Amino acid sequence: MKNIYDVIIIGAGPAGLSAAIYAGRARLDTLVIEKQAVGGQITITDEMENYPGAIDGETGPSLASRMRRQAESFGADIVSDTVLGVELEGEIKTVECHNSTYRSKTIIIATGVQPKRIGCPGEIELTGKGVSYCATCDGPFYEGLETYVVGGGDSAIKEAVYLTRYARKVTVIHRRDSLRATMALQEKAFANDKIHFLWNCVVDELKGDGILSSMVVRNLKTNEKFEIFADEDDGTFGVFVFVGSNPATELFREKLEMRNGFIVTDEDMKTSIPGVFAAGDVRAKSVRQVVTAVSDGAIAALQAEQYIEG
Ligand code: NAP
Repeated sequence: MKNIYDVIIIGAGPAGLSAAIYAGRARLDTLVIEKQAVGGQITITDEMENYPGAIDGETGPSLASRMRRQAESFGADIVSDTVLGVELEGEIKTVECHNSTYRSKTIIIATGVQPKRIGCPGEIELTGKGVSYCATCDGPFYEGLETYVVGGGDSAIKEAVYLTRYARKVTVIHRRDSLRATMALQEKAFANDKIHFLWNCVVDELKGDGILSSMVVRNLKTNEKFEIFADEDDGTFGVFVFVGSNPATELFREKLEMRNGFIVTDEDMKTSIPGVFAAGDVRAKSVRQVVTAVSDGAIAALQAEQYIEG
């Protein structure tokens, strides 16, 4: 086991990387642990339209890779590992991972959120076979085909617009008759000829033998069910699910104060345990944007520094 770190950051999304930049720059011995791609959710975002300063085609992956380089340039170590358990109480915290066990004076939790599923029959079996949660990853597979987007929030509408680059038609299936997405995104979608809407509808079942070939949709107003089949020539279509997300807080259940599964902090990112901070989408808060995540990360790292100094 290595020395005791000053800060261990769990999660390398924008919040975690921002915390790593600030902690590294404060000359704290800093470790970032990430089990998936460095960059978190922005790695599956094509356009960073509303991030201040992000112009000229800035993408999520390009921003994430610069944040990573910046964190490493200040001395933060970034390891790929899966956290299995944490011991948060006491002066020295322990993070048990698949490959190693690490110890630290402070912990910053920046584990973010995971996409929610629709929860209908066929969804799990057909994931990767017509059902997707990432338009940037899977959109190109639907070149010239029909696609459906489930949801009415920022993610759904942003990704519906993105999918029009590939799909010949994109239909948004939303459970109400008005969108939750921000007006700028709504305007883009309504102005796009390729985007159509199925209002007041939910997906009840996804069907296909090895590949998605039809789905049962229900109108919530009339309770009428109808089945949508793939065009005969296409053989399949895409269903992209963006119905919100769940906090990745399983590891911290019963250990930290939570609200609806999100970690409760004060405005200094302090959780209910001294020396343990939370930053980004995993926090109980109302605005979840990259710009608020990086702000949280900076605050958490500066507060961790103050905590260590005593
Ligand atoms: P969200 O805002 O929670 O929206 C989820 C959408 O899915 C809602 O329209 C909701 O319908 C619908 N929905 C939820 N459960 C459903 C179900 N079981 N079946 C069918 N539809 C269901 O989630 P999000 O769009 O992923 O956004 C999450 C956060 O990230 C938000 O704070 C958002 O502003 C932010 N974000 C920002 C950007 C950006 O470009 N700035 C991009 C993506 C995300 P109702 O509307 O009826 O509740």
